[in-house]
Amino acid sequence: MFKKIVLVAIVMHFFSGYSQNQKFKVVLDAGHGGKDYGAVYHGNIEKNIALKTVLKVGAILEKDPQIDVIYTRKSDVFIELQQRANIANKSKGSIFVSMHCNANKNQAASGNETYVMGITRNASNLEVAKNENEVVTLETDYKIKYDGFDPNSPESVIGISILQEEHLDQSIELAGRVQEFFTKKTDNKNRGVKQAGFLVLRQITMPRVLIEMGFVSNKEEGEFLNSEEGQDKLAEAIAGAIMDYKNEFFNPSNNGNDKIDSKVIDKKEDVIVKDIPKKESPNKPIEKSNDKVSDKGIVFKIQISASTKELATTPSNFKGLSPISMEANGSLYKYFYASEKNYDTAKQKLEEAKQKGYNTAFIVAYKDGIKIRITDAIK
Ligand SMILES: [Zn+2]
Repeated sequence: MFKKIVLVAIVMHFFSGYSQNQKFKVVLDAGHGGKDYGAVYHGNIEKNIALKTVLKVGAILEKDPQIDVIYTRKSDVFIELQQRANIANKSKGSIFVSMHCNANKNQAASGNETYVMGITRNASNLEVAKNENEVVTLETDYKIKYDGFDPNSPESVIGISILQEEHLDQSIELAGRVQEFFTKKTDNKNRGVKQAGFLVLRQITMPRVLIEMGFVSNKEEGEFLNSEEGQDKLAEAIAGAIMDYKNEFFNPSNNGNDKIDSKVIDKKEDVIVKDIPKKESPNKPIEKSNDKVSDKGIVFKIQISASTKELATTPSNFKGLSPISMEANGSLYKYFYASEKNYDTAKQKLEEAKQKGYNTAFIVAYKDGIKIRITDAIK
């Protein structure tokens, strides 16, 4: 009897430890809260919409035994921006998703957009970042805590982003999926994936996005955002995007952190960043390669890095790897190693890239030059 209990205890311990390591951890951040109402128009209040929708996203994700959900807030309380980052980093989240509502003096503005960290001088992106960063003035000593940050200065907003390219490629993958699923699940306008400097994302050490689910300043869209039905649709879209991302990037055999982590090769401080066109953009990305490879049919490449800096695709810039190809999408440059028709060969090339130090490289698939899901390519 005793032996049996010990054995059961050991087995249980093994499984609980096992499953904990294997979890994909999603940190959900409902914007604003407590004394910080966020944007308020026509009786629709951003902090409430954000919280209700976050809880709905969480409820969907919690049904997946592979997912752990961490919340920065689950009730109407004020949480400092730094504290949100602390919660995310301490929990060693796989991704961080901050949810907000947009507002504009032009009350006709409508639609959803998803932000990744990046340098922008685009006036409307700066305006969104300025609005979201303004909450910091409700915190005491914010100028000390956030290194002299001034929410009213565009230079301050641009400054946040300068060293913020870590995890950029994965953040863009996640943001693109959120926008894609918004279009699938709602009739709202897709304003695309954008870049700007957000204080709440500044110190978060994982792929991270800030979603502007729609405009509370637009009467009709505000009503949608504030309705049960609207929040259900938005939550389904966001949860769907997160699961889609998880399916592509989460590798349970390696503590889930294999492809989740990403690096950049270089930083550039004076680049002017435009909006990143959304994935389904009709403009085909510009591709450059120093070795000609056929792009017909299914092709696997190893994405080794992404950066706002354009580099020559010579092996010396990429630790001797060759061939290197590059894709420019708006202001973002993605760099790829190899181009293989065979998935197993691509896996070998991935290992090779990792051995050269590209620890967070991952495989991407194309069909006739158009990016597709790995799972579809293998089929
Ligand atoms: Zn907000």
